[in-house]
Amino acid sequence: MQQLPAQWHNYINGRWHTGQSGNLSVENPADLSKVADISLAGPADVEAAVTAARDCHNSGVLPAMRPVERGRLVRKMGDYLLANCSEIARVLTLETGKPLAESAGEIQGAARYFEYYANQAETVDGRSIPLGNDYIDYTVYEPFGVTAHIVPWNFPVEMIARSVAPALVTGNTCVIKTPELTPLACTYIAKAAEFAGLPEGAVNILCGYGHEAGAALSNHPDIDQIVFTGSVQTGTLIAEAAARNLVPCVLELGGKSAAIVCEDADLDTVVESVRWGIFYNAGQVCSALSRIIVHRDIHDELLQRLTQLAESIRIGSHDETPDMGTLVSMDQQRRVGEFCQQAIQAGAIATTGGTAPDRPGAFFLPTVFSQVTADMAIATEEVFGPVLTVQAFADDAEAIQLANGTEYSLAGGVFSNDLQRVMRLSQQLKAGQVYINEWYAGGVETPFGGTGKSGYGREKGREGLLNYVHSKNVAIRLK
Ligand code: NAD
Repeated sequence: MQQLPAQWHNYINGRWHTGQSGNLSVENPADLSKVADISLAGPADVEAAVTAARDCHNSGVLPAMRPVERGRLVRKMGDYLLANCSEIARVLTLETGKPLAESAGEIQGAARYFEYYANQAETVDGRSIPLGNDYIDYTVYEPFGVTAHIVPWNFPVEMIARSVAPALVTGNTCVIKTPELTPLACTYIAKAAEFAGLPEGAVNILCGYGHEAGAALSNHPDIDQIVFTGSVQTGTLIAEAAARNLVPCVLELGGKSAAIVCEDADLDTVVESVRWGIFYNAGQVCSALSRIIVHRDIHDELLQRLTQLAESIRIGSHDETPDMGTLVSMDQQRRVGEFCQQAIQAGAIATTGGTAPDRPGAFFLPTVFSQVTADMAIATEEVFGPVLTVQAFADDAEAIQLANGTEYSLAGGVFSNDLQRVMRLSQQLKAGQVYINEWYAGGVETPFGGTGKSGYGREKGREGLLNYVHSKNVAIRLK
């Protein structure tokens, strides 16, 4: 297999750049070996990238194109990702510890965003508003201009695609701040932009620390719109920066999502959903199914089956073709371990897992907790690891109280074949998206986001497209 380059770079104004803040070493969480160095961007690099994006926007090339032409460029970016999927997936696996199949799935998912929003490019049309015979009035949608995209490490390439594709098809330019733990595969987005023939400065990619490059970007007075995906703590800083500059921002933050499992639910379906819901990407998913709230009549049976499921999941590094890879870093392993220790001290019982396995690397055992009460941190705070809690309910009112009992409201779910009950429960769930009888049901086409500590604004679907435009009304007085 081809050797990876030892040194990777930032991408500004159509060229690869050495950053002005030295280098960052990227580590493989499976064996803690060094994968490569990447140039670290500092405030001066942010300045250069924002200037390049502004100049590109001011050139008027992208806004002047027919939307179908912008759509074709964006579609080509997805084509590039698919054509190079195995190479990019390998890089992504080395820096994240994901199984290769999951990395390939992420690259295909990223390509799907480029496909979907390329198709949507021609649908952003205005309307004509009747004002009587003496006026003609119409609206048009215009791009904001320079958009900032700050992404986390859990699905770095897919998160970039999710916001950059709609930003570009609507005629904006982009400055992307990649996560410091997993910046390498993200650089292929720049290669995709080059392959597609986007104008220089339309896509700029910087790897830098959050408190330096991230802060410089989100506070920059020449940014017109910000999309942030990450933690609540950083999201609050981004919202403050956006408020100071009076620019719109979209915040996709964390979650502590619950599925209500009714006594008539098909338990095979529930187990399969839990497999993906909490063990995919080692549970490092904002909309992970981290809590099961099950009717007390089937609590013991389901708990036993979920414990068996967790014990059947083989963890390993990518050459062991595992079911589940590592967490992203040793820090993340420590954090997940501390949550589990705290839960055990508070009286919860780990029916399986609860610790890191006895092997080097950032692995964590698939974990199931029972005897969890609503006041425990393990029931209310985001762990961001392969840790599931199981709680029992007696009636639907209690199920809703437990499900809605956190400050997050990203996703929620119901497993039942009783349509009336499903509809009632879905009406009462506090969540941006509700999954019925399949966790993660939906797709690129369906809007995604939350309220409360899960953030605000929506990505994906039509809603995601409209984040990047503002309407202009033109009223014409006729003689
Ligand atoms: P994080 O907030 O620490 O970092 C996210 C990004 O913000 C990184 O690129 C980081 O460098 C940058 N950043 C950090 N400090 C900054 C600052 N002061 N100013 C500007 N940028 C800064 O989050 P993380 O640990 O990388 O990711 C995990 C979190 O992301 C979890 O809470 C998870 O739920 C959330 N997440 C949410 C979604 C969603 O769609 N809702 C998706 C994925 C992850």
